[in-house]
Amino acid sequence: MTVTLADILSAAATIRGRADATPMAPSVFFEGRHGHPFWLKLEIAQPIGAFKLRGALNAVASLPPDAAGVTCCSTGNHGRGVAYAAQERGVRAVVCMSELVPRPKVEGIRALGAEVKIVGRSQDAAFAESERLARDEGLVAISPFDDPKVIAGQGTIGLEMLARCPELDTLLIPLSGGGLAAGVAAAAKAINPGIRCIGVTMDRGAAMYESLKAGKPVEVEEVESLADSLGGGIGLENQLTFSMCRDLLDDVVLVTEAEIYHALQMLYHEERLIAEGACVVGMAAVEAGKVDLTGPTGTILTGRNLDMDVFTRIVTGQDVTLGDTVIEGRPYAA
Ligand SMILES: *Cc1c(COP(=O)(O)O)cnc(C)c1O
Repeated sequence: MTVTLADILSAAATIRGRADATPMAPSVFFEGRHGHPFWLKLEIAQPIGAFKLRGALNAVASLPPDAAGVTCCSTGNHGRGVAYAAQERGVRAVVCMSELVPRPKVEGIRALGAEVKIVGRSQDAAFAESERLARDEGLVAISPFDDPKVIAGQGTIGLEMLARCPELDTLLIPLSGGGLAAGVAAAAKAINPGIRCIGVTMDRGAAMYESLKAGKPVEVEEVESLADSLGGGIGLENQLTFSMCRDLLDDVVLVTEAEIYHALQMLYHEERLIAEGACVVGMAAVEAGKVDLTGPTGTILTGRNLDMDVFTRIVTGQDVTLGDTVIEGRPYAA
C-alpha cells in the first residue's frame, strides 16, 4: 500500500480554497549565510496555525455520509485540524491527548468545538483511547500520520513547493510519524525523481529514525523537547509511513535541543518569524553542518502553536527547563 501522485492531486482538489496556497518566502539571510537559495514554506499561515489541516480536511471529506463523527489522538496540531474539519462539516469530534501536550494546544482544540480527553503520559495511551472510541461509539478514527488520506493531504505541500520553485534540489522535512515526509517526498519525487528529500527530527525519542535503523517499527521512550510536535511513536502496526519513509527519504538527520534553540532564535531575530521548535529542525541541521546544501533548498515551517513563555525565554537568551534537562540560555548571535 502506498500513496501516489494521483491521490495527492485529488487531495489538492479537495482542499482547494480552504487550506492551500500558503506563501513560500525566500530567506535572504540564510542564502547569504549558506550560499544557496533557501525557501520557507509558511504553513504557519494556515487557519489553524499548522499544515495538519490539509490531511484532516482530506480525511474528513472522505467520511461515509452516515458517520457519527471522528476521533483522533494528537500532540495538538492534528487535533486542531480534525476539530476544524469536523466543525466545518458539522460532525462530532473527540480528540485524545497525553498529559505531555502543552495547555495552549488543549485549549485551542476545545475552542474549535471538539471534546478533549486527556489520557496517560504517552501518545500510545492516547492512541489506544481513540481506538476504543472508534470501537465502542462508532466514531471514525483518523490517524495523525498513518492514513492514506492524511498523507495525500500533507503531500499537497510538496506540489505547491515545486510549482513555486521547480529548481528545488533538496527538501528538509520535519519528521515525526512521517505523514508529512511521506506525502511531500511522494509528490516531490513523482515530479522530480532526482530531488533530495531529507527527514529531520530531534535526537531524543526519534521513533522513525530508530525504526528505519532497526528495519521495522520500534518503540522509543518519549521525552520532552523544544520540538514537542515531533514527539510520539510511529505505531508498531504501522501500515504506510514506515515503508514510504524507508523508500522515499534519502537520509534522516538528528538535531540537538541546543541546535533547535539556536535556530528558533535565528528565525525570530533574522526573519522576524514565530514558529514552533518542530519547524526549525531543517535550518538547525544546516547550521550544525549536518546537511550540506547542494542547490536551492526548501523547508517547511510546519506550525506556530507554541508555548509563548518558552518561546519568549528562548528569544531573550534564557535557560529553558524541559523535564529533567536544562537547555542553557545564551543571547542570540548569528
Ligand atoms: C505533526 C507535525 C509535524 C510532523 O509531522 P508527521 O507527519 O508526524 O511527521 C511537524 N511539525 C508540526 C508543527 C506538526 O504538527
